[in-house]
Amino acid sequence: MDKVREECGVFGYFSTDNNAASSIYYGLHALQHRGQESAGIVVCDTKGPLGNIYSHKGMGLVSEIFHPEILNSLKGNIGIGHVRYSTTGQSSIENAQPIFLNYLKGTLALAHNGNIMNAHELRESLQAQGAVFSGTTDSEVIAYKIALQRKEKSESIQDAILEVAKELKGGYALLLLSPQKLIGVRDPFGLKPLCLGKKGEDYILSSESAAIDALGGEFIRDIEPGEIIVISKFGIESKICLKAQRQAHCIFEYIYFAKLDSTMDGIPIYDARIRGGKALAKRYPVDADVVTGVPESGITSAVGYAEESGIPFKLAFSKNSYVGRTFIKPSQEERMSAVQLKLNVLSSVVKNKRVVLIDDSIVRGTTIRNLISMMRKAGAKEVHVRISSPPFLYPCYYGTDVPDNSQLIATKLSTHEICETIGADSLEYMHLDDLKEMTLDLPLCQACFDSKYPVK
Ligand code: SF4
Repeated sequence: MDKVREECGVFGYFSTDNNAASSIYYGLHALQHRGQESAGIVVCDTKGPLGNIYSHKGMGLVSEIFHPEILNSLKGNIGIGHVRYSTTGQSSIENAQPIFLNYLKGTLALAHNGNIMNAHELRESLQAQGAVFSGTTDSEVIAYKIALQRKEKSESIQDAILEVAKELKGGYALLLLSPQKLIGVRDPFGLKPLCLGKKGEDYILSSESAAIDALGGEFIRDIEPGEIIVISKFGIESKICLKAQRQAHCIFEYIYFAKLDSTMDGIPIYDARIRGGKALAKRYPVDADVVTGVPESGITSAVGYAEESGIPFKLAFSKNSYVGRTFIKPSQEERMSAVQLKLNVLSSVVKNKRVVLIDDSIVRGTTIRNLISMMRKAGAKEVHVRISSPPFLYPCYYGTDVPDNSQLIATKLSTHEICETIGADSLEYMHLDDLKEMTLDLPLCQACFDSKYPVK
């Protein structure tokens, strides 16, 4: 499918028993939508000897990488896990996370969601000091810098993290495991999400609240932008240590990335998408018989559009959930059948109907064009497309895979031309002003739509 992809998900667990790995496994399952290329878990036994750390990483989905024997071998009461989709560094086992270092002061593991824009400079300066890297990610640079800072200058791991974080430019949510502590850090703009939960006496740090729910835990709060939170046997210590001129939460979490059942920075994702659909209906009404959405992320906005417009919402696609990551990718000529294998149009819903079709975004325009063509074959009289985000015009530097401009259809064609290219009867995108309505005035990054980048 023609979609933008999030880079990663992180999940940390501080437990009273020796079985953090299985909780992390279920947490990563719930975050699988944030990255499907590789996954890993590192655990540590704080009750055992210092530095007693166990790790397992692999390529593929969480369920493919971790089997019961592997989980049983990961003995420890605190740990961190990671699911990855690569935007910096290649998709390879060397770049799978968590990153794990043995150094003079002990051990350090790190899981990172985001992208550090000055990683190249930092890497070069570390290499000049003799550092040797096994992978090509910015995350390894951060881990190495923290270890060096701790060894040479800082009294504690949190001081070392703070000093390194001051040098990082970009968007990040970091989880660190030093043998006795689980530590979370969120970038000062709040670009990348991170939240705190509790299950009994155990603590959880997660990219999304839905993963805390999946464990039967209780969401406590979002980690504040610029906050460093340290969980140890002494309880929780937390401080907002990093300040930015403004906050800038990634709007795309609300439009598409985050799970529907998550709440992020005080805003339930479901409610935001409903409001997005309503805003589209208010600004771009159309005479039609039925409203539908492209599964999954277009569905909720379609419900919002239907509620506001009074036009009935109907499911117009049957989805084949078993066409997954391992599906043999079709050639260009076969693309059409690939979309058809994944989604089939319910002709009884669209036949002789004027349809409003909602999707969350258009990147290259290939999927929506195929879907409209399938709808017409199934007898739709008119297809009016409404997109619950503004047109993609600029790249993302903070860890989201927005393709370069040459592949973004909106950088080359006007809305009218895109409408003709995809074969719709009308096409409208969410107005930039309506993003605020969607997220109730939360301070946003929307730079891929307006080029106002919060980090230079
Ligand atoms: S540029 Fe776009 S995708 Fe990247 S952080 Fe900002 S809003 Fe999110």
